[in-house]
Amino acid sequence: MRLILLGPPGAGKGTQAKKLMDRHAIQQLSTGDMLRAAVRDETPVGLRAKDIMIRGDLVPDDVVVAIVEDRIQHDDCSNGFILDGFPRTVAQAEALEDMLHRHGLDLDAVVELRVDEAALAERVEKRAAESGGAARPDDTADALRYRLKVYRDQTAPLIDHYRKTGKLRTVDGMQEIDAVSDEIQRILDEARSERATS
Ligand code: ADP
Repeated sequence: MRLILLGPPGAGKGTQAKKLMDRHAIQQLSTGDMLRAAVRDETPVGLRAKDIMIRGDLVPDDVVVAIVEDRIQHDDCSNGFILDGFPRTVAQAEALEDMLHRHGLDLDAVVELRVDEAALAERVEKRAAESGGAARPDDTADALRYRLKVYRDQTAPLIDHYRKTGKLRTVDGMQEIDAVSDEIQRILDEARSERATS
């Protein structure tokens, strides 16, 4: 099972990815988490990404594409993976298609979590408040506003991109966490049965 979770910051991608990971024994690949680890460890990628991430801008496509391509080849991804926060640009989506093709892999579904923008600020504020003083430097009101702009400009076009491939499924991300995951589960079951009959 290989899928993409698509949606603005605070949509609940990470929460849903973790549930899917437990349920299906597939790996969550969060480029945000991977980049934050690189920043913490002060790797060359981390040093390059740090200020870009604090601003809420996107790290260059070639950097994240290389990280993902390396990661999907690890043994823990052999059962599948959930891409959370990647792709974030059309160029990344094209690079992903190319790498999956080269590795003989296919996507089962692209799940868009649709949420009201007004709710996002509240969710991100809550995440910062619950972090026990270890809030992400980009979880401030200003950075969130900017991240939303970046999302609208660079990532939202992916919704149309994946609609054209017929793989896009949209879920109402304003529901309770469990209702969202039940709906994602239904989508995955459907994708699996379509696959079995095709
Ligand atoms: P969000 O809560 O906005 O979904 P993430 O944890 O996914 O946050 O990402 C945090 C930051 O990491 C982004 O604002 C961006 O700077 C960087 N980042 C994560 N994934 C990507 C990507 N696929 N392409 C470019 N930059 C990325």
